[in-house]
Amino acid sequence: MAQEFDLFVIGGGSGGVRCARISAQHGAKVGIAEGRFWGGTCVNVGCVPKKIMVSAAEYGLWAEDSAAFGWEMTKQGHDWSKLAAARDAEVARLNGIYGRLLEGAGVTRFEGYAKFVDAHTVEVGGETIKAKNILIATGGNAVRPEIPGAELGYISDDLFTLKEMPKRVVVVGSGFIALEYASLLKGLGAEVTLMYRQALPLRGFDQDIRQAMADALQEQFIGIHASESPLSLEKTSTGLLLKGDNGSHLAADAVFFATGRKPATAGLNLEAAGVKLGARGEVLVDDNHATSQKHIYALGDVVDRVNLTPMATATGHALADTLFGHKPRKASYENVPSAVFTSPPVASIGLTEEEAAKRGPVNIYLTKFNTMRHTISKRVGRKTLMKLVVDAETDKVLGAHFMGEDAPEMMQGVAVAIIAGATKAHFDQTIGIHPTAAEEFVTLRTLTRRTEKTV
Ligand code: NDP
Repeated sequence: MAQEFDLFVIGGGSGGVRCARISAQHGAKVGIAEGRFWGGTCVNVGCVPKKIMVSAAEYGLWAEDSAAFGWEMTKQGHDWSKLAAARDAEVARLNGIYGRLLEGAGVTRFEGYAKFVDAHTVEVGGETIKAKNILIATGGNAVRPEIPGAELGYISDDLFTLKEMPKRVVVVGSGFIALEYASLLKGLGAEVTLMYRQALPLRGFDQDIRQAMADALQEQFIGIHASESPLSLEKTSTGLLLKGDNGSHLAADAVFFATGRKPATAGLNLEAAGVKLGARGEVLVDDNHATSQKHIYALGDVVDRVNLTPMATATGHALADTLFGHKPRKASYENVPSAVFTSPPVASIGLTEEEAAKRGPVNIYLTKFNTMRHTISKRVGRKTLMKLVVDAETDKVLGAHFMGEDAPEMMQGVAVAIIAGATKAHFDQTIGIHPTAAEEFVTLRTLTRRTEKTV
């Protein structure tokens, strides 16, 4: 006899777990299948363990900087295995919480990969399940470039299995993961080189931020091979050799390919359910996250829209409220703040100058400075850049971009203001908190430039 559910969720990551739990709390009978680890990428091989390693790298820098403030400390080096144990214990703790949250809400858990039998039936580990509604929340997987020897390189998941820190590291790519990995490994003491195919890192970010990030990386002695793509990776007697199409030959102990991720749909047998995919392999959905089958939904990285954990949880929660909570609603994909946890980090919300100028003329307010901490520490590569993009006609703040200490912590509050429709006058009217870097956002009095509408 097949078990029957009101909702069956495939994938126990951020979006799937949230939707399952809230749907069950609304009274639905819910089942969920997960084949690898509860909590998905973010908890197990993404945001959480990465942020712990970023913190570890930052501690090293703070310890060094403390000498300028009078502390006498001897840096004894870093114990990778101690960090790994603390990190893994935290991940295990969060795994437990995810499991308990689901059980507490009355969700039935299935350990295994699910596949469609037909549009209302899935199979997990030989068990047949029937569901009125099905949610695909299977996330994404890292992809390696198609070059000879690519299998010799690591993908982002592999960082969390390494028993010791690689001494010479090459990171390929210049998106979120590439920069975070390059930065944290440098902070932990590795010799790091980045190879990326654009002239500047962080494609899609504001141009001033991209330039400031490239400068910061260089000042921190991270080797940069811009405008270059990898050609091949091979084993040598001393490690690995990555060749690039501009003639670079980079010797390394480890090469990380942070060259993007793709939606995880392999093995789901979507054809049996009649669920359609787009050109990038993403599950096609409408504004309500319904697929080409109206009772089958998809959200999170598998739909490849805004691939961020909070976006998956927000859409998962909205879908649960819509289906079972008598509160039809959508999570907005507009003005989604994001952060890159480099050293220094970057945080951003809204339109870049380039995007905003396509809509009309914009006023740009920009400042670049050394924070008080670093005027004393004299640490290089830690300049702060803050930028507001303002609609020249309405005075509305369309975008805020920040590279500098605590940028992600600070940007959350600015995001609320921008979503509430704040104008530059509102920022000017706000009294600063002194002495902080954040106060610069409300004291940007001088117009840096006016950028006319681009055609
Ligand atoms: P991104 O899409 O951000 O970056 C991929 C990088 O790889 C780009 O620099 C891209 O270059 C490059 N690239 C792609 N294919 C090739 C190739 N064949 N050869 C050389 N370079 C290549 O992906 P990530 O893997 O960094 O991150 C995936 C997603 O995860 C992000 O979209 C982000 O939303 C999310 N994420 C968020 C984090 C956060 O919130 N802090 C942290 C980590 C991930 P090009 O620019 O030229 O295309």
